[in-house]
Amino acid sequence: MREFAESEILPHVMEWDEAQTFPLDTIRKLGKLGYMGSIFPEELGGAGLGYIEYSIIIEELSRVDGSVGIILAAHTSLCSNHIFKMGTDEQQQRYLPRLTSGEWIGCWSLTEPEAGSDAAGTRTTATLDGGEWSINGAKTFTTNAHYADVCVAMAVTDRSGAQHGISAFIIDKGTAGYRTGKKENKLGLRASATGEVIFSDCRLPQSQLLGKRGEGFVDSLKILDGGRISIAALSIGMAQGAYDAALKYSKVRKQFGRPISEFEAIQHKLVDMATEIDAARLLNYRAAAMLDRGQRVTKESAMAKLFASEAAVRIANEAVQIHGGYGFIKDYPVEKFYRDVKLCTIGEGTSEIQRLVIARQLLKG
Ligand SMILES: Cc1cc2nc3c(=O)[nH]c(=O)nc-3n(C[C@H](O)[C@H](O)[C@H](O)COP(=O)(O)OP(=O)(O)OC[C@H]3O[C@@H](n4cnc5c(N)ncnc54)[C@H](O)[C@@H]3O)c2cc1C
Repeated sequence: MREFAESEILPHVMEWDEAQTFPLDTIRKLGKLGYMGSIFPEELGGAGLGYIEYSIIIEELSRVDGSVGIILAAHTSLCSNHIFKMGTDEQQQRYLPRLTSGEWIGCWSLTEPEAGSDAAGTRTTATLDGGEWSINGAKTFTTNAHYADVCVAMAVTDRSGAQHGISAFIIDKGTAGYRTGKKENKLGLRASATGEVIFSDCRLPQSQLLGKRGEGFVDSLKILDGGRISIAALSIGMAQGAYDAALKYSKVRKQFGRPISEFEAIQHKLVDMATEIDAARLLNYRAAAMLDRGQRVTKESAMAKLFASEAAVRIANEAVQIHGGYGFIKDYPVEKFYRDVKLCTIGEGTSEIQRLVIARQLLKG
């Protein structure tokens, strides 16, 4: 993965970032190499690996370009995994081989303009009409939306059912009434595409319901348990990239006649950065190992995501500081890590929501 990231991605990172170019050819290549379905069984075209290996894949991609990391993460641990975990045999057979090979790209739409942290406040509706589902509403901030061949989206099927009144649906690109809207112009992760998904009387056969009717929201929370391992890995990868660049720079940049790495103030920064990366990685591998053993990881993945994302923001900040003025200039990679990494404290549940999730688990015990 490291060889691929350094030879196929690194030379293009800034060009993709500035032009907001979605790296479609690179994603197809990742599919051919088996990276688009790493956590799924070989019978479904996957690589049969676990979450630790998957985390390493996301880390290595994100160490070079977080945009590629988040594209793969949304495709794998959100869209494909929802179909794998909750789909019928027919749904798995139809979608997973195409998704795991990278022939199709997946997206996963939960967030709406008025329902972010409070995702149970979903307004998009799905009603049965003449034996078909009719979906109406709009989703926002969907990663991969504009390049996705298949979308898993949550919609209210029973308004009185509260958290048990939301269902998940699989929608193929080209379905009448399904389209993408605005593609966001972002602070960071600019080569990934984030945007709106719009449903206007989008008609689906009943076979496109994913999981049990009314359980789409609860299932989404289970999917997010694994998703948060991806975001922790994304954070760790970007933190590692920023740290590596800062360490290298500190050894070659001379001031007062000495490399700046000889100043204790700089050494302490490097020590804190390296220690936090190790701690984040170990927290995440614990969550990953538990998930691979089939254990519920609500608390552990939220802890890993919370710690890794907040540490990564601090690390990217210090990496810029170690570069001094050059850290502010686009000739060096750290300004991009500084911009990209902020998403990690927001996506798949903000830090505030992770603390809420962890607190619930602690108090329950
Ligand atoms: C680049 C990007 C990619 C994304 N990809 C996807 C995707 O693929 N699919 C998808 O469904 N969504 C995606 N999202 C959406 C993301 O998950 C949401 O942005 C996030 O959950 C926060 O929701 P919000 O933006 O509506 O913020 P809000 O919920 O409005 O939060 C605003 C602030 O209030 C705080 N807050 C809210 N409620 C509470 C509370 N109860 N206690 C304390 N503080 C609270 C929040 O922590 C935050 O600081 C993406 C977002 C971005 C920016």
